[in-house]
Amino acid sequence: MGSLGLALSSMAAARPTPSLASFPSVPLSNNKYSASLHSSDSLETSRASFCLEISCHRRLPAELRWKMSAATRSGPVVAVAKPEPLKIIISGAPASGKGTQCELIKKKYGLVHIAAGDLLRAEIAAATENGKRAKEYMEKGMLVPDEIVVTMVKERLLQPDAQENGWLLDGYPRSLSQATALEDLGIRPDLFILLDVSEGILIERVVGRRLDPLTGKIYHLKYSPPENDEIAARLIQRFDDTEEKVKLRLKTHHQNVEAVLSIYKDVMLKVCFTVHTTIY
Ligand code: ADP
Repeated sequence: MGSLGLALSSMAAARPTPSLASFPSVPLSNNKYSASLHSSDSLETSRASFCLEISCHRRLPAELRWKMSAATRSGPVVAVAKPEPLKIIISGAPASGKGTQCELIKKKYGLVHIAAGDLLRAEIAAATENGKRAKEYMEKGMLVPDEIVVTMVKERLLQPDAQENGWLLDGYPRSLSQATALEDLGIRPDLFILLDVSEGILIERVVGRRLDPLTGKIYHLKYSPPENDEIAARLIQRFDDTEEKVKLRLKTHHQNVEAVLSIYKDVMLKVCFTVHTTIY
């Protein structure tokens, strides 16, 4: 049995509510992984940190198991096989904290972060035909058609950097047909992380969210304001981060999420945020 330990941590800018201090450890498990979420003991006035720890137990390939037992009989192990690259899908409603978690996971484990929304925005910025078509759907909070998204994501997943280092797929699949397209290609994640945040706080997060186009840093006007006036002046808002559009995006998310989850039940870890926290 091989063992691979993962630890994801996230900073959560939180309103100082009494429930936060007693935030419980959340045990999660499926047949391959176990995980728990802990709140930090050292609460500051307005920030708290949460740490999600995941342990993954993978069976070593038969060939390697044989080599190791032969080596144990005849002497020390001289060669260690390169572990198979890790593949993770992360899913959650708009503003559920996927972006923050992805940054942390990517940094810690060197995975290639592939965000379907970013790939689409790059097409829009490049004014391609696909970009123009995609924008029409994105403005309505609807899913972009599969014939654009599926090929785009598939091609990115198959590039050498993702194949060699492993990948962290964010915002895909969002429908049964997209999940099935991955299955048909034999692409399956080791872990499917679902961030489940109560809807009441999602809208507030989206509406206050701003991007610094210079540094790529994400701010929230109320909970994570810019450090100075110069930064404040250059912040921009994503075109679909308005209240009207986020309601449509949330509706689309809820309509599709159950079907996607049904495909990944065996590798799914659901992280529920039920207290009033804001993750950035
Ligand atoms: P969010 O998760 O906050 O909605 P994203 O950047 O992931 O933000 O997605 C923005 C928009 O891009 C979505 O509202 C949708 O229109 C489109 N989109 C992103 N991923 C997909 C996908 N897998 N399939 C279809 N459309 C997508």
